[in-house]
Formats: sequence, structure tokens, C-alpha cells
Amino acid sequence: MLDSLSDGFMSIDRSWRFTYLNHTAERYLQQARQNLLGRDIWQCYPDLVDSGYYRVYQHTAATGLPGRHTDYYAPLDTWFEARSFAHDDGITVLFRDVTREHEHAAQLEFEASHDYLTGLANRRKCMEALSHAVAEAVSPGFTHGATLAVLFIDLDHFKEVNDAFGHAVGDELLRGFAKRLLAIPEPAFFAARVGGDEFVLLLRDTAESAAEAFAHAVLSELAVPFEVWGRSISLSASIGIALLREVPDSAEALLSHADTAMYAAKSSGRFQVRAYDGALDRGMRDRLALRMDLREAFAANQFELHFQPEVALTDGSPIGAEALLRWRHPERGLLTPDAFLDVLLDSPYEGVLVEWLLNAVCQHIRAWRRLGVSVPRISLNLSARQLLGEGLADRILHIARAHDVSPAMLDIEVTEDSLVSDIEQATSVLAALKQAGIFTSLDDFGSGYSSLSYLVRLPIDTLKIDKSFVRALVDSEKASAVIRGIVGLARSLGMNTIAEGVECQSQAEELKDAGCDFIQGYLVSRPLDSEAFAEFMLRR
Ligand code: C2E
Ligand code: CA
Ligand code: CA
Repeated sequence: MLDSLSDGFMSIDRSWRFTYLNHTAERYLQQARQNLLGRDIWQCYPDLVDSGYYRVYQHTAATGLPGRHTDYYAPLDTWFEARSFAHDDGITVLFRDVTREHEHAAQLEFEASHDYLTGLANRRKCMEALSHAVAEAVSPGFTHGATLAVLFIDLDHFKEVNDAFGHAVGDELLRGFAKRLLAIPEPAFFAARVGGDEFVLLLRDTAESAAEAFAHAVLSELAVPFEVWGRSISLSASIGIALLREVPDSAEALLSHADTAMYAAKSSGRFQVRAYDGALDRGMRDRLALRMDLREAFAANQFELHFQPEVALTDGSPIGAEALLRWRHPERGLLTPDAFLDVLLDSPYEGVLVEWLLNAVCQHIRAWRRLGVSVPRISLNLSARQLLGEGLADRILHIARAHDVSPAMLDIEVTEDSLVSDIEQATSVLAALKQAGIFTSLDDFGSGYSSLSYLVRLPIDTLKIDKSFVRALVDSEKASAVIRGIVGLARSLGMNTIAEGVECQSQAEELKDAGCDFIQGYLVSRPLDSEAFAEFMLRR
């Protein structure tokens, strides 16, 4: 009967000699019973001496109480669960192999605390580790000055990358990034992926400058292209840093400070590192307040347009202007878009703004006409969602007609990044605009995912060369080569080029040499209010 048990069964007498082993015990121990019977268990299995099993068996023999112990037994590479019972002549032990269950449990624990994609810790584990590190850092042995740093990393435009290249490529990029994170020298002692494209790193004993240096190392790693399925893709990220100061913060507060700093890095232009300070919280509060003020802004007519002239490089003659939004805020004065645009575009007023913008532009064109000023063309900026809104071309035609303005006086600027999210739809909207006789420009060209494969297909009239290239012109051969490349490319695709952010004569000259058609920037004029712009046009 004992031989038919699926558990191992053995009897041991009061002098620790085997008196019986069943078949299963023979199999588990990989020994025939005649080799063991009558011999001392501790001599046969010296590794067991002082082990957990040893203590439990001794305890059962001494007290008569049953015992139970599970442990890894290295010589047999097996996890055994053993239960011991006392009887008059010694003890019996029932034991079974629990290796599979144990590995399964370990696997479950790993999966519950790790991110399946990258193998890094997940959000739950991150909070655990952070709480633990905070508790440790504020314990009595903690030395001030050296401290705990939290880095919150959010990849820039990752959604667009996913949309453009597919999720499989996105996953591969995340895995590749995780691997590089772990390979940065003097590594973070803890790394987690806490959201789709959000990572958290913990650094111990770091000063702010060291944490910043580490964050910059992360950015450099990202800038090196990832080779994924024959494509070469580089990424950028925005990184927020929060340090545990002398006043102990909670793990939650620390993480949220790092998160706030990350947002600040994002809104100041991405590919940036920001450390948290109290002013950032005020910044967040300001934004909330602005959001509240938006309703009032439209009703009370607080938005206005300024116009920045664009001129031909050949003879300086004006070709028109770009309409730039301003908010005359009752308490804060005249605000430029960097102070409010993301709040506005993220509000229910995003759609309303398009109609407001078109009406305002057409009204200005008519007002100038009455003054005898003819303005060839005004360009307006639209966000991706504004561009993809219902029947844009028809709405524009309708408003233009109502003001007796020709559609050919209007130019719609969109950024390449905003097109990537739904390139098919964007292409057909741009084609509809063109069909309606409205001009189109690709804004900030070169600052995002300039992909030639879709540039060729886009019905675009003008490429606007991003100001970062223009700024780099004076002391960089490369920038000049890039601009020549863009101009040549635009020309071969039948597009014009306009360089923005031109601030000095030498930049203008280089652009002219490169064959660029038009310029816009402080060298020509700052953005002007409607009246000043009319005067500018009259003078020219
Ligand atoms: P953008 O389309 O790239 O517009 C050019 C920005 O560069 C303007 O900033 C302009 O004032 C600035 N700028 C012009 N010349 C120079 C120069 O020589 N040097 C330097 N450093 N900067 C120069 P602004 O007016 O603050 O606009 C910022 C951004 O806000 C615009 O960038 C545009 O993307 C967005 N924006 C402006 N108006 C609207 C709008 O009505 N609708 C939407 N959706 N976005 C708008
Ligand atoms: Ca623009
Ligand atoms: Ca631009």
C-alpha cells in the first residue's frame, strides 16, 4: 500500500537510521532502498545537516509534534515539501516534489511585479521600491546632501511612432530602450516601466547635478538610432527629476513631483531634462486657472491676431504674413501661445478656434483692403485635430465667401508631427484644400519625423524650414548642408521654401545662397498688430 503512494514515504528510527522507504522515495532520492536501509540519514545526506528539514525532524523526534518544511535541496535540484510525524520507534516522513508549483509561484510573483514587455519592474513594484527607498533614506543613519533621486522619463511623440511604424516596432523600441537604460554606467539601482512609454529610475546617493548628468546620458542613448526590422529610428524623451530633500516626502509626493517636472520639460519643447522646484506647482496651478478663464476669453473677445510679414529673399517684397494668436488677458497682459496654446488646444474650444480664426483673418483682410492695402496671402496655423475636423475645406470656403475673400489668399500651416497620426486622412484633407484653391504649408519642417516617403505624397505648396536650422546656420556647416538639402528636395517636389526665425543678415545671405525662396523673422519684422502690419505693407 505504501508503495502505491504518489508521495515519498520513509521511516527513520530513534538513531536516525532508515527503516523503510517506499518506491516514490526511492525515485525522488534516486537511490535503491537496499543502499539506504539501516544507514544513518545524516551520513547518507550530509547536506541535510543543519538544514530546515534537519531542524523540523529533530523537533518532531524531540517533542512528538508533527512538522512541515518546504525547501530547495540543491544536490537533487529539487524543491521538497516534507511533513514529519512521530511514532514510538522514531519518525516517519511524507515528502513530495513541489518544484513545478514553486517555480510557477515564483513566475506569478515575477509577472505580478514586472512588465512583461521589457522585464523591468511595473508600477506596483515601483511604488513598493520607492516607498522602501524613502523609508530607508529618512531613517536615522541617513546623511543629508547625498540623497535619493527619482527620474520620470516619458518618450516624446511615441504614439506617432507607434502609429507610423506599427505596434510591433513600438514594442521592439521599448525593449531596446529598457536594455540601454540598464547598460548606462553607474546604473540606476531600480528601473520600472510604469505606463505605455513612461519609465521611472531611482538613483541613490546622488546630488542634483549627478541626477541631471544621468538624465542627459539617457537622452544621448535615445538619440542613437535603434535598428528595428531594417529601420533606423531614434527617439527623444522628456525627463523630470525630483530629489528627496531633508524634509521627508512621501513616495507618492516624490513621484508626482518628478511627473510635474517631466510635464514642464515636455512643454518647454521636449528632449529636455527638468528638475522639480516649487515654482512648477505654481505653473500647474496657473494652467488650471487659464483653463477656467478660457470661457470668458471667447465671450469677452480677448483673443487677437498679430501678423508677421514674410518676404521674398530676392528683392525683399512682401508675400504676405503668418497670423499668430495672442490672448489679451485681463490680469496677465498680452500672452503668446507658449503660455496658453496647449491648454486651449486641449479644451472644448479647440474646434471653436478654427471658425474664430478664419473669421478674424477674413475681417482683417477686408479692413486692410478698405485702407487700400493689398495683402497677397495670410497663413494660419491649425493643429492636427483642427485639420481633421469635419469638412474643413467646405467650412473655409463658406467663411471666405461670406467675407468676399478669395480662398487663394489663405494658406493653412500644419506641422509634420501632427500629420503622422493619421497620414491617410491628413493627405485627403490637404488634397481637398488644394482642390478648393487654398494653399498649404508644412510648418517646422525638419524638427520632427521628417519622413520622405510621405512627404512625396503630401499635397503641400510650401515647406517652412524650422528655426532650429536657421539658428544653427552661423556656426554649423551641417546646418547649411541640411538647408541646401531641404531646398533641393522641396524644389524637386515642386514646393517653395520659407525659412523662419531669421534674425540676422548673415543668416539671410546663407539662405539666399542655398536657394531658399522666402524668409520670416525678426530681421524682417516682429509679429505686428493689424494696424502696424498695414503700415508695414504700405511702406514696402
Ligand atoms: P510657429 O508656427 O513656428 O510660429 C513662429 C513663432 O516663431 C512665433 O511665435 C513667432 O513669434 C516666432 N518668431 C518669429 N520670428 C522669430 C525670430 O526671428 N526669432 C525667434 N526666436 N522667434 C521668432 P509665437 O507667436 O509665440 O507662436 C508660437 C507657436 O504657436 C507658433 O509657432 C504656432 O505653432 C502656434 N500658433 C500661433 N498661432 C496659432 C493659431 O492661431 N493656431 C494654432 N493652432 N497655433 C498657433
Ligand atoms: Ca506656423
Ligand atoms: Ca514654425
